[in-house]
Amino acid sequence: MDGALADRLDALLPQTQCTRCGYAGCRPYAEALATGAARIDQCPPGGDATAASLALALGLPPSPVNPAFGVEAPARVAVIDESVCIGCAKCLPACPVDAIVGARKQLHTVIARECSGCELCLPPCPVDCITLLETSAVPLPLATIRSRALQYRDRYDAHRARGAAREAARSALLAAQTAARSPRP
Ligand code: SF4
Ligand code: SF4
Ligand code: SF4
Repeated sequence: MDGALADRLDALLPQTQCTRCGYAGCRPYAEALATGAARIDQCPPGGDATAASLALALGLPPSPVNPAFGVEAPARVAVIDESVCIGCAKCLPACPVDAIVGARKQLHTVIARECSGCELCLPPCPVDCITLLETSAVPLPLATIRSRALQYRDRYDAHRARGAAREAARSALLAAQTAARSPRP
């Protein structure tokens, strides 16, 4: 895989990490595009303008977003109905940009300015108290999608770094516990 090409393609994507393209996030989709395994028309949040940018970068004919992956839509933000939220915290790990704040047995809320509208917090919620509100009348222009992408990618990278640090700490603790239980020679 051409990593430099994947970098360039990734930079054209909206970074909502919504997985609607059929990949685990924007970067895996960019890598699939770089190898020719994915088509340019699989990213609804990016819309037809992003598909056109991908076509240009890859030297392919332009193609609008394939409705099988979803439709281009106005910007949206998640809102939690705090009168229904039971504080189970199941939505927290689902958010790729850590836009939800709260702790177990406490009410949760969404930081609207950080929410990418990816919808990934909806399925884990056992009481269906998260809804998405439209924050623009029409799909966002490409320049706005690109500027928001920088913010979302920073938040996503930080989210992944925190997850990796947690996993490393957990592995170190398990190793220490195993060593403590092992009989001394
Ligand atoms: S924003 Fe586009 S490329 Fe990124 S995960 Fe969503 S559909 Fe895939
Ligand atoms: S709050 Fe929900 S919709 Fe908003 S970014 Fe997080 S997971 Fe996506
Ligand atoms: S998953 Fe739903 S009920 Fe649980 S903390 Fe999140 S918003 Fe509240």
